[in-house]
Amino acid sequence: MPELPEVETLRQALVRLIQGKCLEEVLFHRSSLRFPIPRKQLSREMKGQTLGEITRKGKYLLFHFPSGAMLLHLGMSGRMMQSDRLESVEVHTHATFHFSPDVILHFIDPRRFGCILWVPSGHGHFLLNHLGPDPFESGVIAERMKRSAYKCKGPIKAFLMNAKRIAGVGNIYACEALFQARINPNRPANRLSLKAWETLLNELRKTLKKSIASGGTTLRDFFNPEGKAGYFAIELNVYGREGKPCPLCQKSVRRTMRSGRSTFFCPNCQMR
Ligand code: ZN
Repeated sequence: MPELPEVETLRQALVRLIQGKCLEEVLFHRSSLRFPIPRKQLSREMKGQTLGEITRKGKYLLFHFPSGAMLLHLGMSGRMMQSDRLESVEVHTHATFHFSPDVILHFIDPRRFGCILWVPSGHGHFLLNHLGPDPFESGVIAERMKRSAYKCKGPIKAFLMNAKRIAGVGNIYACEALFQARINPNRPANRLSLKAWETLLNELRKTLKKSIASGGTTLRDFFNPEGKAGYFAIELNVYGREGKPCPLCQKSVRRTMRSGRSTFFCPNCQMR
């Protein structure tokens, strides 16, 4: 599943590839993904227009055009593929974008949990309105998160993964950041000190940045016709390592399950 670092790396690649270019043609090969695709509206607003900035919030990408923005989410299996053909290249191609003079991009999403929507300028969007800040937003500081967690007695890990609190932090990154910060994933969110929040946010950004940096080397896969999605393999300390030695203390990494989701941590290093 594409996580925030993959989405950010894709964003950076697309900035280099299509920002400032005119969208000559856009084709939709189906009428809905996770939500119906407003095909007519998207064509009307984007065709013949120049693409401005591409921004990201959590795992959502926003492609800014003069009258609004196309909102794209990769869902569970979405990716972009570059091609020299306008025709749909495979059965799961849902949209094709032709930027002048010669960049053709296909949006492919076999599991169809992704979405393509339109957000008119000056309007909010239901998918974005309740989203917490992005971890890299300058306003995401320890004081603010501590305040936000004031009444939250649930585990800090669930807090981190709640997009209403902070956007785009998946299971892998929540587990790894908590390990780096030496914080027990089950610790009630409202019991974290300001200092602990500072450490946690630092470690979260560091972990995400490391993954984004490693993405540069596998970037070609995003546009690779062979179909690899280019999802990154960062060096993991605890995630997926149940029973294996903790890299710090050599004791066994433990896994717990909660609402169908695994949490990996070192009970020895993550005491607080
Ligand atoms: Zn340990």
